[in-house]
Amino acid sequence: MAKTKFVYFFGNRAAEGDGTMKELLGGKGAGLAEMTKIGLPVPSGFTITTEVCDLYYKNGKKYPDGLKDEVSKNLKQLEKITGKQLGNPSDPLLVSVRSGAPVSMPGMMETILNLGLTDISVEGLAKKTGNRRFALDAYRRFIMMYGSIAMGIDRELFDRSFKDIKESITRRRLDLKASQKVGDTDVNEAELEALIKEFKSIYKKHIGKDFPQDPVEQLWGATNAVFGSWMAEKAVTYRKVEKLFGVKGTAVNIVQMVFGNKGDTSGTGVCFTRDPNTGENVFYGDYLVNAQGEDVVAGIRTPIKLSEFQKKDPKAYKQLCDVRKTLETHYKDMQDLEFTVEQGKLYMLQCRTGKRSPAAAFRIAVDMVGEKLINKDTAISRIRTSDIEGLFYPAIDKSQTTELRNTFLVQGIDAVPGAACGKVCFSAAMAESLAERNERVILVRKETSPEDVGGMHAAQGILTATGGKTSHAAVVARGWGKCCIVGCEKLSIDYDAKVFHVGNVAVKEGDFITLDGSTGNVYVGELKLVAPKLPASYETLMSWADAARQIKIRTNADTPYDAENARKLGAEGIGLCRTEHMFFDSEERILAIRQMIIADTIEARKKALAKLLPFQTKDFEGIFKAMDGYGVTIRLIDPPLHEFVPHDAEGQEALAKAAGVSFETVKERVEKLHEANPMLGHRGCRLAITYPEILEMQVSAIMTAACNVAKKGIKVQPEIMIPLVIDAKELSILETLTRKTADGILAKEKAKIEYKVGTMIETPRAALLADEIATVGEFFSFGTNDLTQMTMGISRDDAGKFLPDYVSEQKTGIFRNDPFQSLDQAGVGLLIQMAIEKGRSTRPTLKVGICGEHGGDSQSVKFCCKVGMDYVSASPFRVPVSRLAAAQAAIEQRAPVAKKSVASALKTASVKKPAVKKAVADKPAVAKKPAVAKKPVAAKKPVAAKKPVAAKKPAVAKKVTTKK
Ligand code: PEP
Ligand code: MG
Repeated sequence: MAKTKFVYFFGNRAAEGDGTMKELLGGKGAGLAEMTKIGLPVPSGFTITTEVCDLYYKNGKKYPDGLKDEVSKNLKQLEKITGKQLGNPSDPLLVSVRSGAPVSMPGMMETILNLGLTDISVEGLAKKTGNRRFALDAYRRFIMMYGSIAMGIDRELFDRSFKDIKESITRRRLDLKASQKVGDTDVNEAELEALIKEFKSIYKKHIGKDFPQDPVEQLWGATNAVFGSWMAEKAVTYRKVEKLFGVKGTAVNIVQMVFGNKGDTSGTGVCFTRDPNTGENVFYGDYLVNAQGEDVVAGIRTPIKLSEFQKKDPKAYKQLCDVRKTLETHYKDMQDLEFTVEQGKLYMLQCRTGKRSPAAAFRIAVDMVGEKLINKDTAISRIRTSDIEGLFYPAIDKSQTTELRNTFLVQGIDAVPGAACGKVCFSAAMAESLAERNERVILVRKETSPEDVGGMHAAQGILTATGGKTSHAAVVARGWGKCCIVGCEKLSIDYDAKVFHVGNVAVKEGDFITLDGSTGNVYVGELKLVAPKLPASYETLMSWADAARQIKIRTNADTPYDAENARKLGAEGIGLCRTEHMFFDSEERILAIRQMIIADTIEARKKALAKLLPFQTKDFEGIFKAMDGYGVTIRLIDPPLHEFVPHDAEGQEALAKAAGVSFETVKERVEKLHEANPMLGHRGCRLAITYPEILEMQVSAIMTAACNVAKKGIKVQPEIMIPLVIDAKELSILETLTRKTADGILAKEKAKIEYKVGTMIETPRAALLADEIATVGEFFSFGTNDLTQMTMGISRDDAGKFLPDYVSEQKTGIFRNDPFQSLDQAGVGLLIQMAIEKGRSTRPTLKVGICGEHGGDSQSVKFCCKVGMDYVSASPFRVPVSRLAAAQAAIEQRAPVAKKSVASALKTASVKKPAVKKAVADKPAVAKKPAVAKKPVAAKKPVAAKKPVAAKKPAVAKKVTTKK
């Protein structure tokens, strides 16, 4: 067997790896290799693969055999190419040791610079460069980084000692006033020498040994630290939040040092080839003169803009512009670059696809098609679900002019657009705990660090006192499309007292503030937010997506308002109208349905139903009008009746009075409705089997509304849907009654309207017997909320208590996703695929869709496309997500690599079980035994709780745009 290669070299325009090898070399390693190959100025070095990280953890933190030899061979090669040796007393090779995972994890893992410096080699470096101050500065940085990162000494101890020297010695020497700041670069050689001495004694005190003077020992110490950082809590949390599963580990990049801290013709920067906020084709970034890399990202010093850099050092800037052009043409996407200028010469240290705001994602994709860099398919494929979600985040309602004027507090740097409003929190932990209680919070920090990532995610927005647009807070928040303001220097934060001041205004923890991430403005109090205007590029790209997709996108809407809104968002019909929601619209309606439920004679029931008829008719008219010619699927009543009746004595008393019956009658009737397991009880079409008059009323309302609207010249396409079916005969009885009622109305109204009668597939039995059921039903709509619940035997209402353990990679990793959010393709998906095939075997024209919450989840939508559905139906705000996902699915299916059968498409199952995947591919015989819930669990389910399972859209955005 060929020996595994653990180390990949790059240097002198040649590289063993390349840009396609991200999985193995990490993003940074692959980028460095690719940039070297295309002739860009990259310092030489080598990458230890992510596989080593994987093996390191699998083997109890032991490196694989042969690694040390490979590293020392590559080190020799690096020494040969650079003409310098590690630890050489007169001209030492110095290296950086940097992490680099296959996916970008900004600031989550460690980097150590200037490695190779010792008490002796620092003097060699001083002589060689003729700049002793620089050499000492590099050494003090190295001791601090090595001490804190590799050996775990509290960084604060080093910072404090640096500050002491600056304040007690440098300030006095320079005779600075109290108001003047002592800069890092003001510290002179003698002071740096004293500092190094101090740093070394801190090291010895905490480690019990002298600072290592053997560079090879340093190299392995640093490598251990980078691999160790992969499992640091902050990195694990980041991966959890970002749903980065199955990533092997980080690579380690050992690269010759270049120095941005060699004086005023040196510096270091981070830039994007286009504006990551707006997407505009302008060069964008930060540069720090006379500094090393970590100074920019940490946001400790405020950097200058690239335009100033151009004025300061036009030659170096020109080199950078050339690189920008080469890289965009090469990668055909916006790149995020890290670079260093050493005495006027540019070196590239990193290049990766740049994170961008949602608006920028659309603009860059559309602009690049215009520039002929990419085609439309590529543009569509680049947009992520989160980009669409981000576009719908709210902005501050600018019509509140007085409030805006009166509540304006301060302005910071507009790092990530959008607006957010919430209670001030000064710690990530506090932000997380309030968010868990459904409170909206704004995380306010001096600067954020990767430890804050959980709180940043939980917050509606982030505000920091320091840092630039490429600081940690900005980069992380941008990736999430989360409103963020940084560098708000007037903010004076007192963590202990839990308050911040701007001048004499104090804002305490728990007070509301509002952020405008598009202007950097901060306001005190709660301002009204509105849905933002979508950029022109959104419409352009979505029109391409609509042209590319093969299936229709419908919406789940129960009101004319939602239906209209969904149309605006691109819905082409209603896939699910839950009629029961209409009964809760007013006191009058709820009373009528309650009277219907407690009625003990058919006459009394019919009387109550007659009261509901006009309400339902009116609602359906509004929905038909909003859908103007598109199909409207209306589901007959579904929840168990006990959900509609009052359970407290007071409510029962009121109902008794209104209905003209005794309190005891009501009480007794309510008690009779009690079920041990209502979700498997008297609900769905079972209600119509027992009480056919409910079906008659609902079908009459639907068809009367259809006739009324049709008379106004509006085309209507009613589709009457029968829920929770388990048998063809059951469906047949109800279908016959539906047609009898519908045809009766049409005859009465002398109207000719085509309508369909179909069913939901929500029970495993219905899926298994789909061929029989399709002989009756004209369409199937997969109700995957119930189908998931019943297939998995997991109550959709109680799953929250234990399902997170199944999804947590750390705990069990049984599922990759919550199956109620993203379809369980291996299990539920198998039933769906089989039901479609069986259904179409007896009715080739069978129309098939999905109306569970999965219809708005992009992975699930892609699955629905692959198994040949005609449409997916999603809640209004998910409609654009589904449109995009359907287009991406069509593009993937067109692409040569993705030309797979349905069976192999199913291999992308969300459940990591090879055996299941195989079974799917082999198309097993029908499952032996339908699922039987072993022990019913009493699940008292309020109707509201039964509604959406996966409301992914942020509550605020939804609230803003659905004013009812
Ligand atoms: C379903 O079960 O997927 C469905 C759409 O119906 P409901 O959520 O109303 O039970
Ligand atoms: Mg259902």
